[in-house]
Amino acid sequence: MQKMNRLRRLAACGLAAMLMLLAPVAHAAQGKVNTSSLVLRKSASKTSKALQTLDRGDTLEVLSSTGDWYKVSYGKYTGYVMKQYVKVSGKVEEQTSVKEETKQPVADLGDAPATSRPGDSGSHVKKLQQALQNKGHYNGKIDGIYGSGTTAAVKAFQKKHGLSRDGIAGKVTIKTLFGENAADDKTIATESLKWFGNENTIPKGATVTIKDVQTGKTFQAVRWSGANHMDTEPASKEDTATMKSIYGGSWSWTRRPILVKYNGHVYAASMNGMPHGTSTISNGFDGHFCVHFTGSKTHETNRVDSDHQSCVQTALKSTW
Ligand SMILES: [Zn+2]
Repeated sequence: MQKMNRLRRLAACGLAAMLMLLAPVAHAAQGKVNTSSLVLRKSASKTSKALQTLDRGDTLEVLSSTGDWYKVSYGKYTGYVMKQYVKVSGKVEEQTSVKEETKQPVADLGDAPATSRPGDSGSHVKKLQQALQNKGHYNGKIDGIYGSGTTAAVKAFQKKHGLSRDGIAGKVTIKTLFGENAADDKTIATESLKWFGNENTIPKGATVTIKDVQTGKTFQAVRWSGANHMDTEPASKEDTATMKSIYGGSWSWTRRPILVKYNGHVYAASMNGMPHGTSTISNGFDGHFCVHFTGSKTHETNRVDSDHQSCVQTALKSTW
């Protein structure tokens, strides 16, 4: 029996070590409270306001170190705890107080949204959802509503990065997510998606981001259906407006080279700009439009469209 347990422990250790090797470098150190009652304070002083009392075994995200204190994130709180009562795994950044005052991590990340939490809504939540989807954690609607799906996606992302799994897109989570996305955007190679045989690489109902190669404008779109190619609708009225501006203000069948970003991949594609046929989303776009990939065919004539394919080739030479 004891041998079994030891084996099991060894197996668990091996697995943990393997996971650590596979996991990207953790962005924040983890801390564990090693006393029965630890006060989380607003600032690094024993007389500072108490925000919360922590129990033994509670886990924290350790953000930085200053004097005898760690700056930590715990649930919705960011505050300070005495170093001696926290066991830390991982590297903690030493922070001088001057830096601490002037540091604005979110502002450095360009497109990163402000900190948000369950119950929030708005364009900052949309950005969050899109980033989570790009990382493969979120498959719901990009609707700007921080509901249970978004919360679960944030938790999944936090788990993957060894962050405290509170489901809140706090500073560290945002920094990790958008820091990584910014790096990814520069390095994602544009891929050719050979349509037949891979028709469901982007599943029906999935939201993608489309970038028009010539203008650099982006909008979100939802795959509605399509067997010969991908039938797609702009995700919202706002997205319809962006698409229309790409087409110079009037819809047309003209093919344009585009990049389609989905689940961390960027695929070379071509679109037309004429609303036609079925519409399923209330987005001001009366129908859907067609997105072609390598080797895809048109509806009516069931043939490979050379104009679409030449746009796919142009898109293939560009990067996100
Ligand atoms: Zn179509």
